Amino acid sequence: MEQSQADELLVQDILRGEQEAWRNLIARYEGRLLAFARARLAAHADAEDVVQEAFVGFLQSLSNYDPSRPLETYLFAILRYKIHDLLKRQGAHPMRTVEDDAMLDDALLTEGHAGETPSRHLGADEHRRRRAELLGDALKSLIGEMRDSNRFGDLQVIELSFYVGGRNKDIAALLELDEKQVAGIKFRAIQRLKAVLESSSMPDSPQLDSSEVTDVTVSEIWRRRRLTCLKRSTLGAYLFGILEDPWLGYTQFHLDVVACPMCLANLEDLRTEAEAEPTPDYTERFFQTSVGFLSRADTSPPSQA
Ligand SMILES: [Zn+2]
Repeated sequence: MEQSQADELLVQDILRGEQEAWRNLIARYEGRLLAFARARLAAHADAEDVVQEAFVGFLQSLSNYDPSRPLETYLFAILRYKIHDLLKRQGAHPMRTVEDDAMLDDALLTEGHAGETPSRHLGADEHRRRRAELLGDALKSLIGEMRDSNRFGDLQVIELSFYVGGRNKDIAALLELDEKQVAGIKFRAIQRLKAVLESSSMPDSPQLDSSEVTDVTVSEIWRRRRLTCLKRSTLGAYLFGILEDPWLGYTQFHLDVVACPMCLANLEDLRTEAEAEPTPDYTERFFQTSVGFLSRADTSPPSQA
């Protein structure tokens, strides 16, 4: 079974208030969430607290969760929100990246109002959302084409350009290309994106100009949809040294050059698992502190159990 299918079934069980399903979800995701939080908070106790809050937040906002999107992405978004909250409460000025992340996740989460769709978000925001959706789909298909035809070099160029926001000169230096090659790869990618968008049957499919592709919107879409994030199985193969090129080179690039925080957290989690270090029983703690919110996610009356 695909991971996404497994997650979808798990969420359905959780919506029905099944405690074992909730425990399974915690066990599946706690490691990578803890690794992510620990990389951002000085105190380990704080990291545990925000992960705990994230699990509670997940149950509280479950009705907002769109099952067509990866569960992991949604959990990371909630966690980033909680980290941002904690840093604000502590009076620390959140690092710029944390601040940006929290703002970008805002629309995705619309948290705190389970079941309520705020009408003020319709209209301009709805238009913006659909536009982002189309652009995201076009990018996804472009990235898919590049991977399928083993054009990982091109993929690195557009990831650095569209996602990280690097200048041609810097990208050329980093990837040992000349600037003309970088410009050419970008140009062809934008042409391809335009073609994909034009072929989409949506009546108001966005017109695209080249400046738009390199602006913050694309970077936001890229990160939110995790367009080039690595599968956990790929990271596992990387960790055990059995990943081969071209995926090996690309994985190193995504981890070391792009420094994707979510993939780094996954890798850290896998490494801890592999070393089989004795760890405190977090699952039980997270379960006990959140299970009280489980029945509220369900529409049926709370059971006696
Ligand atoms: Zn990633």
